[in-house]
Amino acid sequence: MNINWPEKFARKGHELFLSELPIALHCHHYNLNLQKTLETSLGADGALLLYQASEESSYAGFTSFLMQHPEIKTIKSKLELASTSYQYCGLGIIKFNHIGPEGGMVVSPHSHHVTGWLAKYGRRASPGCFFSRGWIAGVLAVIYDKHIGYFLVDERECKMTVAKECVFEVTVA
Ligand SMILES: [Zn+2]
Repeated sequence: MNINWPEKFARKGHELFLSELPIALHCHHYNLNLQKTLETSLGADGALLLYQASEESSYAGFTSFLMQHPEIKTIKSKLELASTSYQYCGLGIIKFNHIGPEGGMVVSPHSHHVTGWLAKYGRRASPGCFFSRGWIAGVLAVIYDKHIGYFLVDERECKMTVAKECVFEVTVA
């Protein structure tokens, strides 16, 4: 697989595009303040809002990406592209080593949201990678040709609680 990332991840004037879809790039101050605000004001509904927004945007973005690369056909190649895309966007490292159409486990040893949360607010008492959970659910729905909401992604261990890595469990909803 040979993706021209500077072409895929392009700036046109003041706008930024990923695979021809307009995107917003924010630093950890914005992203983690947004999460903190949503959790503080809405509680579990705020976390769910982040999860669902992330799931919808990764579903739309990855669908668009794959439509432009019909040569990427196998599940293995699509998972590799998803992981590379996550990394290229500065979101972190994500490993789809134990995943299939019925779900499985996904591991992230480093992420933007973990680093940002720990820098701004310190250790959490509970897992907090809501964006990553939704992002994983969205790309897996595309890769396995399912609808949004088909997969449910929970976080079993989280580096925000100072676990060794973030461990996500994927099940069929
Ligand atoms: Zn986490």
